[in-house]
Amino acid sequence: MMKHHSKAPALQIVRVLIQSFFLILAALALYFVISGKLLSIHHLCPYSIVCFGLNGAGFIRITEAIFATSIVAGFAILILSLFWGRFFCGYVCPLGSAQEALFSFHGKRYRVVARIPQYLERKFIYIKYIVLLVNAVMVLSGIAYLYLNHCPLVLLSKAPFWGMRGLIMLSFILLGSIFLERFWCRFLCPYAALLNLSQYLGRLFKIKRKMIRRNLERCTDCGICTDNCPMNINLLEKEVVDDPNCIHCHICDRVCPKKPVISSTWEHVER
Ligand code: SF4
Ligand code: SF4
Repeated sequence: MMKHHSKAPALQIVRVLIQSFFLILAALALYFVISGKLLSIHHLCPYSIVCFGLNGAGFIRITEAIFATSIVAGFAILILSLFWGRFFCGYVCPLGSAQEALFSFHGKRYRVVARIPQYLERKFIYIKYIVLLVNAVMVLSGIAYLYLNHCPLVLLSKAPFWGMRGLIMLSFILLGSIFLERFWCRFLCPYAALLNLSQYLGRLFKIKRKMIRRNLERCTDCGICTDNCPMNINLLEKEVVDDPNCIHCHICDRVCPKKPVISSTWEHVER
């Protein structure tokens, strides 16, 4: 019988290396801001398009678009998500990587708490769209930079003069991620909501997107992939995972005992 070699272990090493690179980059950016070499963290953070809305994008104040780098990065990631989904969350976002590391160090012993039933998951995932909407309304109407005022990265960049709101937010995200794997990414992150909306737009225009495919002939429906998916996606529901919350981590592939069953392909969603 022909022996199949899975690319899953190599991919996980590459992913951890990329995540570590961006974590170090984020730490360096914070260091430069704290030491006064960089004006503010907003110059580099792609979240800026969420924090400042179109004001930050320069549509309103184009000549003083001081956040140009981060705004360009934010929009570039948004456009790329049309084709690659939420790869940013699985490979780049330091907040996502920090949560993942925390969960893998401490969370496994709380695994029973970490899994929530699918029917609740499918409801909670909509909270992040509400967060995005409320934030957008407040920013665009000039009431407040809602997300900015609670941003954990902004908090860290102001060390040692940490504001209470940011501190509560950071503790909430880090403590929460010990019990609920990537709970911020799943339920609350407004940028994740934006990336999902970009994928829904791609679906509307039938743009082919990278998706996880399960080979139904080889799959035994054991459910190990679903039990280990950090985004709590039920892989057994479909042959192709068209869920926009997939972060392309390929953990499902790594844990699958029947490798190779899971692969990633370019698909457009049939609706
Ligand atoms: S872990 Fe592998 S064999 Fe089991 S259900 Fe998932 S894809 Fe199928
Ligand atoms: S479906 Fe697979 S690739 Fe997508 S988030 Fe879950 S484990 Fe990661």
